[in-house]
Order: sequence, then structure tokens, then C-alpha cells
Amino acid sequence: MAGILVYSEKQQLVRELLGKARQIADEKGTAVAAVYLGESIPADVAEFGDWGADTVYTVASPLLVGLNPETYTDALAGVIEQVEPDLVLVGATKSGLEISARVAARLGAGVASFCVDFSLDHGFVTADCMIYSGVGKNTYKIKTQPALATVNAAVFTAVETGGVAKVTAVDAAIKEPALKIIEYKEKAAAGVKWEDAPMIVDVGQGMNSQDDLPIAESLAALFDGQVACSRPVSSERDWFPEWLGLSGKRVHADLTVTLGISGSVQHVVGIRDSKTIIAVNTDENAGIFSQADYGVVADLHEFVPIFTDVLKAKSAKLA
Ligand SMILES: Cc1cc2nc3c(=O)[nH]c(=O)nc-3n(C[C@H](O)[C@H](O)[C@H](O)COP(=O)(O)OP(=O)(O)OC[C@H]3O[C@@H](n4cnc5c(N)ncnc54)[C@H](O)[C@@H]3O)c2cc1C
Repeated sequence: MAGILVYSEKQQLVRELLGKARQIADEKGTAVAAVYLGESIPADVAEFGDWGADTVYTVASPLLVGLNPETYTDALAGVIEQVEPDLVLVGATKSGLEISARVAARLGAGVASFCVDFSLDHGFVTADCMIYSGVGKNTYKIKTQPALATVNAAVFTAVETGGVAKVTAVDAAIKEPALKIIEYKEKAAAGVKWEDAPMIVDVGQGMNSQDDLPIAESLAALFDGQVACSRPVSSERDWFPEWLGLSGKRVHADLTVTLGISGSVQHVVGIRDSKTIIAVNTDENAGIFSQADYGVVADLHEFVPIFTDVLKAKSAKLA
């Protein structure tokens, strides 16, 4: 098959990748296929046809469990070797990034990570890719066929085409993995979706103690907001199950107030789509001030209670 093959373990991401793949394939008169890998194949797998796939290639195996990178690499590489696409788009989830790198190494193929746009010219891929967490963009021309590219969620848009896909089972050789998953633990959910919050109070390591969190909660409560945090506040202090940033959640709030956040690029990726950012930090040279619309050089423990009282007295509302 000449054309574009799409894989992710996240079904919504598959639909998004199919949306872009279908557009490019129609321009070039080529084909689009999706891949489904798993212990068993769901009855509705042909529905990827609705989202632009001409074919859905499936691999079912009892070894395809727990997103084991070794067995998923065997399966995806097996499909690629048999189908011979020009380009393989892989969802840039943690699993997708690991599998795509392993598959590329195995097949001697070029892989472009964090692709945000691409074109196909006589089967060869040119890909625009985000670098430095989105601060810049590189354009790569990949000389191998197939080429691989990983794509984050929400980069491309799913488009319902109402098409019908043919489902074809592929017999891929999957070896017993050297790496075995011995335990799987569900991550505790935050309970609320930060991504949907109109206002975020973003707590960093500048907050002294978990006992100070009510300072942030009182401010957030004024605007039906949520209290979120930086990675070390979650991963080291364990105050929250999740964090904001490159490896965490990304918010699009009308207002984000950062408290004791230094402004590392990995963190700012998670909040930069906020309409307005107010930063509170004791260090006037903190990097967060170059990212914020308003900056307050102050101790958050002193400033925030006063700020909250003033906003409350003025019955402040989000614009
Ligand atoms: C591959 C990779 C991925 C990463 N992904 C993420 C990610 O997704 N999200 C993330 O958050 N981080 C991520 N990090 C970590 C990131 O680089 C930073 O280390 C982290 O964001 C710093 O968190 P912080 O701002 O809370 O703490 P710090 O950097 O320690 O900053 C604390 C700030 O608080 C200020 N402060 C101190 N006391 C007060 C006070 N009383 N009042 C007001 N201000 C005060 C200080 O001046 C300082 O600026 C990643 C790192 C790597 C290498």
C-alpha cells in the first residue's frame, strides 16, 4: 500500500490522525489505513472508516497486553513490513513515542517527533516538528520509505467522512517479551478536569507547606477555579495526583495565577494557552515574569490572602 498508516492506542487520537491523513491522501490520490493492536479485536473496529480509513489492519495476540513496548513494536513493525506505507503517523503518547522509536530503529526508518504538519512528495515525507516544547519548529525531510512521525493530541482535527473501511487481519510475528509487566496500577485521578476550568491557581515549590493550600483554594473559589500545580509539587511532594506542563496537563483558562512557580519551559507549556497569566514570585528575575501578563514580586503567603480579600470586596468577575 502506498499511502499513510495511522496508529495510536488512543482511539480519539487515531481519528485526529486520520483526519489529516485523509486530507493529504486525497490531494495525492493515495490510501489511508488505521492499525488496531490488542488482545482481541473489538466488533466496531471498522468504524475508523467513518473517520477516513480505507482499511483497518488488525493484529490480535495474547501478548499484546499492558502496552508492552516490545510486543507492540513487533506487531506494528510486522504490519508496516507487510503493508509498506510511505508514512506511519503514531500518536505521541508515552507508549507511542517509545514504540515509534523502537519500530524506526528496527526498520532503519526516519522518525520525526512531535510533528505538527507534513507533506508527501512522491512518497517522501517533509515534516514540521515542534522543538523545545513548542518554542521553535524544525522542518525535516525524511529520506526513508517508510517514514514515521509522532503527533500530539489536538494537533490535527478528526473529520467524519462516512466512509466504509475494509478490516484485514495481519499475521505479525510477536515474540515472547524479555520485559514483562508484573503489576499495573491505575493512576489516581484528580477528580476534576483542570482542562475545563475557567480559572487556575497554579501552585509551585515556592509554597511552603501543604497547610498553605487553602490560600490558593480561597483565590480559586472566587472564580469557580481549580488549584493545580507544577510537577515537583505532585511528583516529589505528592500534594496532587497530576501536574501541569509538558509531561502533564495543559489548560486554557481565562485566568491563570501562578504562585511560587519559577517558569521552566516544561511547565509553561501547560499554561501558556491561558488568556491572562498573573505571576507571583519573590524573585524579580524569575523566568515566569517574561511569560506573564502581570507580575507581582512578593511572598505569596503574604500577598495572596490580601489579593483575595480585595477581589472579594470588589466582587471581581472574569471578563
Ligand atoms: C523532561 C522534563 C519534563 C518536565 N516536565 C514538567 C512538567 O510537565 N511540568 C512541570 O511543572 N515541570 C516539569 N519539569 C520540571 C521543570 O523543569 C521544573 O523543574 C519545575 O517545573 C519547577 O517547578 P516549580 O516552578 O514549582 O519549582 P522551582 O523551580 O523550585 O521554583 C520555585 C519558585 O518559587 C519562588 N518562591 C520561593 N518562595 C516563594 C514565596 N514565598 N513566594 C513566592 N514565590 C516564591 C522561587 O523564587 C522560584 O522561582 C520537567 C523537567 C524535565 C527535565
